Amino acid sequence: MIARVIGGGFAGAEAAYQLAIRGVNVELCEMRPVVTTPVHRTAGLAEPVCSNSLKSEDPASAQGELKRELKMLGSAVLRAAERSRVPAGGALAVDRTAFSENVENILLSTGRVTVIREEVTEITPNTIIATGPLTSEKLAAAIEKMSGKERLYFFDAAAPIVTGESIDREKAFFAARYGKGDADYLNCPMDAEEYRAFRLALMSARKAILRDFEKGELFENCMPIEELARRGEDAMRFGPLRPVGIRSANGERHYAVVQLRKEDLYDGAYNIVGFQTNLAFPEQERVFRMIPGLEKAEFVRYGVMHRNTYLHSPGFLRSDYSVIGAENVFFAGQITGTEGYLESAASGLVAGINLFRRMTGGETLTLPAETVTGSMQRYISEYAGNFQPMHVSFALTPPLNEKIRGKAERKAAYATRAAAALETYIKQKGVTI
Ligand SMILES: Cc1cc2nc3c(=O)[nH]c(=O)nc-3n(C[C@H](O)[C@H](O)[C@H](O)COP(=O)(O)OP(=O)(O)OC[C@H]3O[C@@H](n4cnc5c(N)ncnc54)[C@H](O)[C@@H]3O)c2cc1C
Repeated sequence: MIARVIGGGFAGAEAAYQLAIRGVNVELCEMRPVVTTPVHRTAGLAEPVCSNSLKSEDPASAQGELKRELKMLGSAVLRAAERSRVPAGGALAVDRTAFSENVENILLSTGRVTVIREEVTEITPNTIIATGPLTSEKLAAAIEKMSGKERLYFFDAAAPIVTGESIDREKAFFAARYGKGDADYLNCPMDAEEYRAFRLALMSARKAILRDFEKGELFENCMPIEELARRGEDAMRFGPLRPVGIRSANGERHYAVVQLRKEDLYDGAYNIVGFQTNLAFPEQERVFRMIPGLEKAEFVRYGVMHRNTYLHSPGFLRSDYSVIGAENVFFAGQITGTEGYLESAASGLVAGINLFRRMTGGETLTLPAETVTGSMQRYISEYAGNFQPMHVSFALTPPLNEKIRGKAERKAAYATRAAAALETYIKQKGVTI
């Protein structure tokens, strides 16, 4: 049995491993270094293009739970990360070079993976397409032919999204500008001192992309918040942080106001209005948590300003990551709408297992909705709202049956429920690792 995996990133590497350990010979086609992308710098497999952090290991967080599920399902990418670990407090961070080498070594140790350094431009059967946000143009054209033009997005300028429950409601308040219409926005007020400190932090924060390769129309029409800050002391106050007409319940006016708009996610999450940004992800956490009310904000997705190719997957992909109507072609990774290094690895893991099962006549798997991995499968195949690549979050899993007051306790309950559901599922379905 031979399968092809296109793209040797987080998703493709994991998918290739899952196929190989099940006895499938895999051609893993990675175009670097023959053809490169604007952000990759090496020829290594699973190159972390920006931060070297694979995020929190706290077992009572969605990211910690994702790691537990990857471990339970035998992930090669997670194993390579643990072998390349560098100290990073409560997070799993990696030495980039060691990490990529470990990924490659684990894959080659199966004896069934051949890495082919070439750009793939056509889609053939028994394939997983895991070419990520910077999919090459020729392949993107082939994907567009398959999906239809309206389903493949190329650019993304997105503001961060934070969970509703992480917003401090003692500080943020609902109000409509001039009291007109529904008070749909949550407003985070700033005094002059807070505003100036915030502006300085924004201007000096580290960017995600050092090379300014995305200049042009998009950049001018949709300016990153840090660029707006640079345009002058008051530029943000005349733009997205405009305070006029917004008053607290006691009638108080404010120097500047950051507005949060509710996203149509399952459990209230909020978009920071006008905050499309090119800051590195850890810098977004540091700087945006200076906004009053967002000190403990949890990010469901970070802001981005870069070329981002992704599919409008609902209606095109099944929850097992295969294409509706072309069931032996699978997609995996960020191109499907899972954002983040390990989220992409998780989708590659599921797609790899499922292509094997499809090739051998078995039933494909959709993990339980309570698991963060399964919730991503549902998100990419069923979500009816404004679809965009998304990190794992307990907000994407079904609500708990009981009301739990403390936030930490609630998260722990989500995580315990997810782990129990996966354990039962693995036993029931006989998922071999
Ligand atoms: C600028 C930038 C910064 C980011 N920062 C972070 C961050 O800090 N943390 C985080 O978690 N996520 C970050 N992301 C998101 C990150 O890209 C994903 O989390 C993750 O890399 C996606 O994994 P993937 O396997 O889907 O794609 P990738 O890891 O990008 O892998 C796709 C691979 O496919 C190859 N490829 C493309 N087209 C072809 C072709 N036609 N033929 C053969 N090979 C091809 C590419 O060379 C690449 O190696 C960032 C993304 C960008 C663009």
